[in-house]
Amino acid sequence: MMSEKVKEPIKASEMDPNFKYEISKMHGGEKLLRCFQCGTCTSDCPVAKFSETYRPRQIIRMAQLGLKERVLSSDTLWLCAACFTCTDRCPQDVEVASVIRVLRNLAAEKGFIPQVFKEQVASILESGYAYKIPDLRIKKRETLGLPPLPKGNSASIKKALHGVAFLKAIEKKGE
Ligand code: SF4
Repeated sequence: MMSEKVKEPIKASEMDPNFKYEISKMHGGEKLLRCFQCGTCTSDCPVAKFSETYRPRQIIRMAQLGLKERVLSSDTLWLCAACFTCTDRCPQDVEVASVIRVLRNLAAEKGFIPQVFKEQVASILESGYAYKIPDLRIKKRETLGLPPLPKGNSASIKKALHGVAFLKAIEKKGE
C-alpha cells in the first residue's frame, strides 16, 4: 500500500524515465508535465481534508518521477472522488482528475484493484446492485408495506460491460 511504501526511501532503480511520456500520450494525461508542485490541488481537495494519505499533488509528482510501481499499486489512487475541484483550481491546467483516471486505468490493467471495487463489480454482475441488500432489510420493507425492490437485470449489465478492460483484469486476477 502506498501509505506504507511511500515512506520507504526512493531508489533510483524504481524510476522509469519513460513513464511520464507514456502518460502524456494518453487521453487526459497530456498535461502531466506542466505541474510545478504548487499544492493547490491538494489544499482544495475535499478528500484530502479527511484523509491522512490522499494527496493529489503527491500522485502527480510520483507519476512525473516515474515511480510507476509505487503509484499504480497505491490504494490512495482509488480515493479520488472525481469531483474535479483539482482540475478546476490547478493554475497549470494539469487536469489532475483526468491524470488520476489514466493512472487508475493503468493500475487496473496490472490487476491493482482494491478488493472493495472487485466485490462491487461482482455484486453488480450478479444482482444489478453495487451492494448485496441484506435479507433483514428486504423483510423490513415488507413489514413496512413498501414495494419489493426492482430486480436488477444482470444479463443486460453483462452484455453492456462485455469487453470492459476493468472486468477482464478482475477475471484474470481471480484465475
Ligand atoms: Fe501541480 Fe496543478 Fe496540483 Fe499545482 S494544482 S500541484 S500545478 S497539479
